[in-house]
Amino acid sequence: MFEEIIKITGREKGTTSIVLVGVHGDEKCGLEALEKILPTLEIERGVVLFGYGNPRAVEANKRYVGANLNRMFNRNEQFSEKEKESYEYSRAQFLKTYLNKAEALLDIHASRTSTSKPFVICEANATGIIKYLPVERIASGFDQIEPGGTDYYMNSIGKIGICIECGFLGNPQSEQIAEKSIFAFLKARDHIANDLMPQKQSYIRMYDLYKTKTNKFILTKSFDDFEEMSKGQVIGVDGTQEIRAEKAAVILFARNREKVGEEAFLFGEKKNSLA
Ligand SMILES: [Zn+2]
Repeated sequence: MFEEIIKITGREKGTTSIVLVGVHGDEKCGLEALEKILPTLEIERGVVLFGYGNPRAVEANKRYVGANLNRMFNRNEQFSEKEKESYEYSRAQFLKTYLNKAEALLDIHASRTSTSKPFVICEANATGIIKYLPVERIASGFDQIEPGGTDYYMNSIGKIGICIECGFLGNPQSEQIAEKSIFAFLKARDHIANDLMPQKQSYIRMYDLYKTKTNKFILTKSFDDFEEMSKGQVIGVDGTQEIRAEKAAVILFARNREKVGEEAFLFGEKKNSLA
């Protein structure tokens, strides 16, 4: 299990990029892809850093051990004392020292939704890179409504943060998507020769995050990632209150919850471009 960050230096000078896997310890596709790629990978230009986001959670095969690492990159005043004492908080401080060295990040995740198709989370600054990634959907807007991830951190320091969701974490194809996306990222960043064609992609801007008001939020059904909701459609029941879509929207990461203040789902809308 590696706590340290691996550095591969190219023969020629170039930019620095970073690839993270296992920021959520039970999302194994990125780890499997790295295991396959790293032994023979040659970088032509620049420097590429590779690392496990949350090695302790990877070892425990859990999303996290103390707190969600992908919310630990928020501004410091956002954290409770308990969160600051977590392993993930200190791990985030360690990872920041490497994120600070790179101009662009690819952070590899997988979804808990069994039908989830691969998609990318980023903002408009990533346009030149994500068009080569093996996904059809690009979702933006997370920096405003759900800050604190690795991609949020990179964007907040004027760099490029890209998170890829490689499909359902239990689907073996997610490993292939992870592998393809690492190579596409390295090519788009000019670390290796780029022989890829841009993909045709669609864009969704996330505009709302629903956090639970009670300790019992139950969905009316299980929702696919990016499933279309009609105006007034009931999403779930929070305590005794029905929660509805106020307008036509797409839903993302919908799940039942058992605590107050937990992230239950996000709403987004289709857009013609990432900007
Ligand atoms: Zn994840």
